[in-house]
Amino acid sequence: MHYIVMDLEWNQPTSFNTPVFRQIGDSLLFEVIQIGAVKLDEQFRLLEEVSIPIRPTHYTSIHPRVKRMTHLGHEQLCDAPAFPEAMADFLQWCGEDFVFLTWGGDDVSVLKQNIDFFECGCEMPRMFDAQRYYAEAFELGVKQKSLKGAMEHLEIATDEQRDFHNAMHDAHYTALVLQKLPNPAGVLAHEQTPRKLCHNPRRTRFRITHTVPSVTEGLAGADVCTPECPTCKKATTLLTELTPQAPGKYVALSKCPQHGTLFIRVRFSQLPDGQRGLHLSVTPANSQNRAYVHTKVLQNQYKRKHGVPFDPEDLGRACDSNMPFEDM
Ligand SMILES: [Zn+2]
Repeated sequence: MHYIVMDLEWNQPTSFNTPVFRQIGDSLLFEVIQIGAVKLDEQFRLLEEVSIPIRPTHYTSIHPRVKRMTHLGHEQLCDAPAFPEAMADFLQWCGEDFVFLTWGGDDVSVLKQNIDFFECGCEMPRMFDAQRYYAEAFELGVKQKSLKGAMEHLEIATDEQRDFHNAMHDAHYTALVLQKLPNPAGVLAHEQTPRKLCHNPRRTRFRITHTVPSVTEGLAGADVCTPECPTCKKATTLLTELTPQAPGKYVALSKCPQHGTLFIRVRFSQLPDGQRGLHLSVTPANSQNRAYVHTKVLQNQYKRKHGVPFDPEDLGRACDSNMPFEDM
């Protein structure tokens, strides 16, 4: 049996509002643009490697962030095969008896969604997660570990000829990490199944009002700084600063001369195109809201005075992953 360490690069929609995303976004969130893989024998020795570029046929303009990271753009991909042909070539290269190893579960989920979307009709082999095995072997807990971090930890030198975020290079590096583990075959205890990917706005539990380039710019916007009274629709004046409540969450009080104190809540979420989604809610304030905001303001003043660092652009766990979508 061969171990195939597999890694993908994929393109993402440049916006949720494009006709193509509205049409297919539910069934294809990410379109694979490169398959990279390394074939290992049963002793985890490197046998051969492959890189298959893929021409996207649905999200045809490469997202700037993807291009920046992968160096794959229209020029590199325009003559490449489309996914079904590339996948067939890849499986032929894999051979007869093999399993897939990946770094984390994102790649198998994206691969499965592309196979289903393009109706390739191929069977997926058994798949195992090298990242989970690495984390277990060194008792690192469940938080996602970057491949680069694992290499630094294991003192594996990076190769100048091999940039990260190239599928073949990342597969190669994943193989080097596996070779360093006390018992590489132990990865077979970490079988994984693809997750169903879907664009899940419920994750944020709020409806995005509009998008902004950054939290800082969102907080400076007129809609947030002079929130509209829900009753008379007139601009109101903030009584307090917009005070952080949790990563990406802010509260404040404002006052409408006619309709009294208002409770302002602002929420930000990370969107796949690098923008931030903003939701603003303005409701009449009750005494609990007022007390809550005043407490938060005092806490925040105390933290600032004592120099507790705060980065408004850090949206917490939402930023950890390049997978802004959740399974159902
Ligand atoms: Zn009013």
